[in-house]
Amino acid sequence: MKNSSSNPSELARETLKTLAARKMPPTPDNYTRIYAEIGGTPADGERGAEIVLRGIAEYLAQTPKTAPVSISLKKVIGAEDWDQCLKEIEKLLPRPSGESTQSWSELIRDLLHQLEVPHKGLTITRKKEGLETVLKRFAANPETLFDKLNGLMRSWAESPLAGSNAEDGSVPPGPPPTEGAMAAPISASTTLHVPGEEVGLPARFAALLAQTLEGILGTLPELNQEVQALAQQVRDVKTHDQLTVFTKLLRQFLLKVELRAGDQAKVHEGLLRLLRLLVENIGEMVEDEEWLHGQIVILQEIIAKPVDRRAIADAERGLRDAIIKQGLLKQSLSEAKTTLKHLMTTFIDRLGEITESTGEYHQKIDGYSKKISKSNNITELSHLLEDIMQDTRIIQASALRSHEELVGTRKQVHEAEDKIKKLEQELAQVSELVHQDQLTGALNRRGLDEAFDREATRADRSHTPVCVALLDIDNFKRLNDTRGHQAGDQALVHLSHVVKEALRPSDMVARYGGEEFIIVLPGIGIVEAAATVERLQRELTKQFFMHDNERILITFSAGVALRAPQEPQDDVIGRADKAMYQAKKTGKNRVVVAE
Ligand code: GH3
Ligand code: MG
Ligand code: MG
Repeated sequence: MKNSSSNPSELARETLKTLAARKMPPTPDNYTRIYAEIGGTPADGERGAEIVLRGIAEYLAQTPKTAPVSISLKKVIGAEDWDQCLKEIEKLLPRPSGESTQSWSELIRDLLHQLEVPHKGLTITRKKEGLETVLKRFAANPETLFDKLNGLMRSWAESPLAGSNAEDGSVPPGPPPTEGAMAAPISASTTLHVPGEEVGLPARFAALLAQTLEGILGTLPELNQEVQALAQQVRDVKTHDQLTVFTKLLRQFLLKVELRAGDQAKVHEGLLRLLRLLVENIGEMVEDEEWLHGQIVILQEIIAKPVDRRAIADAERGLRDAIIKQGLLKQSLSEAKTTLKHLMTTFIDRLGEITESTGEYHQKIDGYSKKISKSNNITELSHLLEDIMQDTRIIQASALRSHEELVGTRKQVHEAEDKIKKLEQELAQVSELVHQDQLTGALNRRGLDEAFDREATRADRSHTPVCVALLDIDNFKRLNDTRGHQAGDQALVHLSHVVKEALRPSDMVARYGGEEFIIVLPGIGIVEAAATVERLQRELTKQFFMHDNERILITFSAGVALRAPQEPQDDVIGRADKAMYQAKKTGKNRVVVAE
C-alpha cells in the first residue's frame, strides 16, 4: 500500500492505523517499516524512525485529547530516549496481544451496565451464570480473565435487545437459535462457547451419559420418568443452547437425587441414634414408668408422621437433655432422701431417749419424794438430795443436749425437705419437656391434660377456684396469607412468649390447636381471671410482633370459664369455647365470660 501524501502527520496516522490493523508491536523498527511502506520512501535506520516518531507527535498535537502525549513524545524524541518513547506510544495503541487498553474499572462498569440491559434470550440469571463460569475458569490468570470478561460483555452487548420481537428472555427451547441468540454464549454449562465452536456432544460421551442416567432407574423407581426424559434429551443435544438447557436440568436432577439419598440416610441415622438413646437409658427410665411412657409416645408420633430430619433432631435434643437432667436430678434426689431418712431416724431416736430418760427421772423423783417424806434422818436426806441432784444434773444435761440436737436436726430436716421439693419441681419440669409443644414451648395437649388433672384435683381437695381461658388469634389466616406461614409460626411463638411472661409461674399455658391456646389459672375467681386475660390483650399491644421490621399487632378473642367442682376438663373448655365464639361474633379482640 502506497500513499501519495507527503504530509508527515497524514503518513503517521496511516502508519498507526496499519500497525493496529496488522496487530504489529509498535517498535520503532515496525514504525519505520510501515511508514516507509506507506510513504513510499526507503527506511534509513534510526533516522527514519525518528522521522516517523516526529510525524506521530505532530499528528497527536492536532487534537486536544492527545496533545499532552504529543508534548511528552516530542520531549523524549529530543532526548533520544527510545524506551520512554515506546511507552508513550504504547499508551495510545491497542495491544497486539488483544489485551485492551480499557481499564478494569471501565470493564466492570460496562459489565454492570450490560448485565442490566434486557437482551433477547438472555436472562440476568444466564448472564450471571456466564460471569461465574468465566470467573471460575480464568481466575488464576488476570490477563486472560480480562479478555474473556470483555468478550463476554461484548457478546451481551451485541445480542439483540429484548422486546425487538415478542420474547420473554427465557431459554429458547427446540430449534437451534439464531446467530443473535448464539451470541449469548456462557451458560451453566462449564463449556465456554466460542462462536463457530462445535457444540454437539461427542456421540460416545452422550451415550455414556444416557446409560449412566438409565442406571439410576433401578435404584430410584419413583424418578423413572424424569430419568428417561433426561437420557433421551442427552442423545438429542445438538446445539449449544440445548446443551445449556440439558446441563441445567441434569444439575437439578442430581441435586434432587442427592437430597433424597442424603435425607434418607440422615433420617435413618437419626432414627437409629434415637433408638440407641432410648435403649441405653431404658434402665433409668423404667424406674419412672410415666416418663418412659412419654418418651414412647414421642417416638410413636415421630414415626407415625413422614419422618423428617428436623423433627428427629428436635426430639433427640429434647430427649438427650431430659435424660441427662433427669439422671442428675434423680441422683441428687435419692441422696437428699437418704439424708432425710437418716435425720428423721436420729430425730426419733432422740425423742425416744428424752421420753425414756424423763420418764425414768419422774419415776426416780417420785421415789425420792416418797423416801423424803418418810425419812427423818438428816444424813439419809442429805444422801438422797445428793442422789437427786446427781440424777437431775444427768437429766438436765441429757435434755439440754437433746434440745440442741433437736433444734439442729429440725433445721436440717427443713433444709432437706426444701431441697427435695425443689428437686422434685425440677424433675417435674424436665419431664414436662415431653409435654411441650415443639414450636412455642407451651404445653401440648398431653401436658394440658396432666396440668388440668393436677389443678382440678388440688382445687377439689382444697375447695379453691380454677379458671380456664381459651384464646383464639384473630384473623390469623390473613396473617399467614399475607406474610407467609413462617411468619405465622413466629407470631405463635411471640404470642406464647408474651403470654407466659405476663402470667404467674403457677398459671399454665397450653397450645390447644393451630392458633388456639388454653390458659389454666388456679387459685383465682372468674372476675380476676377475666381481668388477667384482658391484661394479656394489653400486653400484646405493648409488645408488637415484629416481621420484616414492621410492627404487627396480634389480637385474640377469648372465652373464660370458672370450673365448677368436679367438672371435667372437656366440659369447662367447652364452655370457654362457646364464650370465645361469642367474642368472635361480637367483633373479636375481646374477652367473654362463660355462663
Ligand atoms: P378468626 O379471627 O375467625 O379466628 O379467623 P382466623 O383466620 O384466625 O381463623 P381460621 O380458623 O379461619 O384460620 C386459622 C388459620 O390458622 C388456619 C390455618 O392455616 C392457620 N394455622 C393453624 N395452625 C397453624 C400453624 O401452626 N402455623 C401457622 N403459620 N398457621 C397455622
Ligand atoms: Mg381458630
Ligand atoms: Mg383465629
